[in-house]
Amino acid sequence: MCNISIKCQKCRSELASNDSSTIVDCHNKPIQDTLRITYSCNENVMENNWYLASTALPDWINTSIDEGNWQKGKLICPNCTLRVGSFDFISGIKCQCKQFVLPQIHLVKSKVDIYFR
Ligand SMILES: [Zn+2]
Ligand SMILES: [Zn+2]
Repeated sequence: MCNISIKCQKCRSELASNDSSTIVDCHNKPIQDTLRITYSCNENVMENNWYLASTALPDWINTSIDEGNWQKGKLICPNCTLRVGSFDFISGIKCQCKQFVLPQIHLVKSKVDIYFR
């Protein structure tokens, strides 16, 4: 298993890594290597988000979710305040295949860079 690091696209500070969190796909399966990076339940649809399992989160995300009372809100880069994602513990949105509820916390792929080392 390689190390994954997700960084803010604007200021390059690290937002999440698999030391502090579990990066998962739309079916809550951990993404562990580049072979899984394109995984989606519907291969015809590009997945726009990286998801994070709610069981282990970086401090800044925990703080944001606490401030949002574990309901719904935005995730803002703690360094440059770029909006990098959001969380939603209320709606229970399902993925494309309608079989799974999407993980509640996500980072938007177009706002972050992902590195494998
Ligand atoms: Zn930033
Ligand atoms: Zn699915």
